[in-house]
Amino acid sequence: MVSCSRCGNRAVIDERCKEHFLSDFISNVKKTIVDHRLLSKDEKIMVAASGGKDSLCLIHVLNGLGYRFSVLVIDEGIAGYREKTIDDLKRFCDSLGIMDLRIKSFQDEYADSLDNILKKKCAGPCTECGTRRREMLERYSEGFDVIATGHNIDDESQAFLMNLFKSQLQIAARQGPVSGLKDMGFVRRVKPLYLCSEKETRLYTILNGIDVHFSECPYAVRSFRHSVGYELNKLEEREPGAKLGLIKSFLSMLPGLKEHYGD
Ligand code: SF4
Repeated sequence: MVSCSRCGNRAVIDERCKEHFLSDFISNVKKTIVDHRLLSKDEKIMVAASGGKDSLCLIHVLNGLGYRFSVLVIDEGIAGYREKTIDDLKRFCDSLGIMDLRIKSFQDEYADSLDNILKKKCAGPCTECGTRRREMLERYSEGFDVIATGHNIDDESQAFLMNLFKSQLQIAARQGPVSGLKDMGFVRRVKPLYLCSEKETRLYTILNGIDVHFSECPYAVRSFRHSVGYELNKLEEREPGAKLGLIKSFLSMLPGLKEHYGD
């Protein structure tokens, strides 16, 4: 049995017991919020959720820290997948007494589900899905000061590498814990889980007994992001801390990128 290096109890991850892992996790999120000035309690906050583990983890942490917010979920129409995550989200919001859960669908917005759109059109699922999701997010975040999302180290290190591989540093310049779209008239987007890994968010949900499906969108496997994530996971296994190192390097380059490309 591996023991916690601080108290000697049974370790659940990286020589930390359940209690020390959970308190470190919360401290990490709080520090990210403070260091990058992500949120304040007097702002009108919307959490853009999917119903997956990261969004439920974000809702749980923000709620525990005393933030009040609305939740928006977009139902793209992905049979056998999205209805389950939306059910998880409904149940979870209900259990926390979060009353303002807004569900908006591609069906109502575009008169078709993503599944049908992709049957009629030979296109990359994530490009089709992402463009529409962004449009809807902009529309339905009107009146809010800030949108919080559950992006974590894994998502962000993948995004940075994808932009490097595609020579799109102008897009990388708009990434980071706060998305740089404010000057373009969009609601500020923030990522409180920016410095938490996917492994940690998964463990956080398990240790808190959060009822969530860990399945992946069936279209994800067809995306470039998936291939990048796969390779990054292999690298992380060989060199633990590689993803965090990549993100820290990105953060140190970010001011220069913003200056060069404008924000
Ligand atoms: Fe949409 Fe792609 Fe995400 Fe699936 S993996 S929800 S298709 S962006």
